[in-house]
Amino acid sequence: MREFDTPDSLTSGVCRPGQNEIWFRVRMAFWDECHGVCTGVTNATPDTELQPEWANPDNPGGQKRELLLATSSAVSDNVMAITGRHELGHVLGFAHEHERFDLADPGCTPKWGWRTLTPPDDLSIMGYDSCDGIANNQPRLSPYDRLGAFYQYTWARRHALMMGGGSSIENLAYDSSGRAGIAWHRPWDHEIELWTSAGSPGEPLEFHASHHCLSGNQGACKGDVVEHARQRPSPLFASGMAADLDVLMLGPGVGIDDVIQNNKNGIFQPQPIAIDGYAIPVIGSFEHDIDDELLLYRPGPEEDTLVVFDADGGISSLPLGYSDYAIPLVGRFRGFGGGGNDIIWYQPHHNTLHVWQWQNFESFEFWENGPDDAKSIGLSPLTEYIPILGDFNGDTFTDMFWYAPGRVTDWLWESASTQEAILFSVFPHDVDGEYRPFVGDFDGDDIHDILWYAVADEVDGVNSVIWYFDDKGGHDVRIFTIHGDYTPIIGDFDDDGCSDVLWYEPTAEDGSSPLWRCLPGERDFACDPPVIHPSQGYPIGNGGAY
Ligand SMILES: [Zn+2]
Repeated sequence: MREFDTPDSLTSGVCRPGQNEIWFRVRMAFWDECHGVCTGVTNATPDTELQPEWANPDNPGGQKRELLLATSSAVSDNVMAITGRHELGHVLGFAHEHERFDLADPGCTPKWGWRTLTPPDDLSIMGYDSCDGIANNQPRLSPYDRLGAFYQYTWARRHALMMGGGSSIENLAYDSSGRAGIAWHRPWDHEIELWTSAGSPGEPLEFHASHHCLSGNQGACKGDVVEHARQRPSPLFASGMAADLDVLMLGPGVGIDDVIQNNKNGIFQPQPIAIDGYAIPVIGSFEHDIDDELLLYRPGPEEDTLVVFDADGGISSLPLGYSDYAIPLVGRFRGFGGGGNDIIWYQPHHNTLHVWQWQNFESFEFWENGPDDAKSIGLSPLTEYIPILGDFNGDTFTDMFWYAPGRVTDWLWESASTQEAILFSVFPHDVDGEYRPFVGDFDGDDIHDILWYAVADEVDGVNSVIWYFDDKGGHDVRIFTIHGDYTPIIGDFDDDGCSDVLWYEPTAEDGSSPLWRCLPGERDFACDPPVIHPSQGYPIGNGGAY
């Protein structure tokens, strides 16, 4: 959007597709394409892409994805921003929110039987202002917009730090050697490409690759591309060791298989697991044993399920219920003493927090605390927060940094928990600007740091920075410029206790991604030769802050 064509040029559309890793073209609409009540329109949605009426001389079959903005949307930055966000919501697959409110007005009548992600939301960017029940001129994504996006796209994320007893290693590891690895999901080739880091400390980073069919077969991998592409992989410790992590392939809805890829020393074997409907995988070690359990969270009143893995490969489940709509934050808030993970449920719309503190190992009983108003501990209502989990003072207890993009106060919550209760000491911080935060230990002092990656804002001279935390929760700042739009993969790839960065660039024409090798104690990186990354793959469990 930043690079989009000048509004006065109706023949615009010269933005290079993929330039910012957004695979559609943004241009001003011709009058017959979008006018009147239409301020913007896109065919980059599940129900409009490939529609023949989108064909034009520049886009013969109509298959190219486009996002068109009417000249009327150029009246002000505010209208342009609202329109842009609304259309980008469609790109993410979101339907119109007003259709859930006003059944009488024909212009606001439901067209599709879409699946709902949150309660009806009058603040949604996906609502038409002209329809009853919708708040006008919402300049931002609403809390439920963000929550719905989290539910739909959370599956790839998993912090090694949160991996229960296994979290004494802070990297995703797969081949049982304990060396950090990257498992690339490559659905078009029906495989996981497994990278295991091999370089020694002080030497250039190196990876060994091996290929594993999702079917478990040897030789050429076969399978259903649509099924494999729709499965959502998450690393988890279901069997074996923490150093040969398994992968949950969650098939959303009905008709797509759910599978655990059981990993033994880097060899995957699929094991079917029956999971009904749509569920958010909440993975953690809830029995304070070393392996993980899987909470299948179905937001709202629908019953949730806790899936327990036995040492002999058996799977059992028991019903649980969390009836609100919230982001589950799984962390080692009580440190290693308590063994495993607890859950803090953050409800962004009502701005409340609800704590589940596991108590009884065998029967999975837990203490509940809340819901409590998060305002009383600093979080403002209707404000976007990105909770960043890490150990920011090196005491092995999971802390949380509540990052509010923009000028709102941010909060560092340092865990001051005991075995009996989860408690935080709260400190205000001031992170101006918009960043994507990534957690790692970028100086090798066993205290987590935050890489604030400015991505597009670097164009405007904003720098990316690393906050190097100390054992008091204070931090030093060092500026880095990155110059590009990457998906950073963070791990200790040379086993020196210091987090390296693979700047994954899926659109790079030469198929390579830059590598930064962390220099322990120096708060700096060496630039190693770029690596050729797998084509049409993405790293399982990476990305994001929580
Ligand atoms: Zn729309």
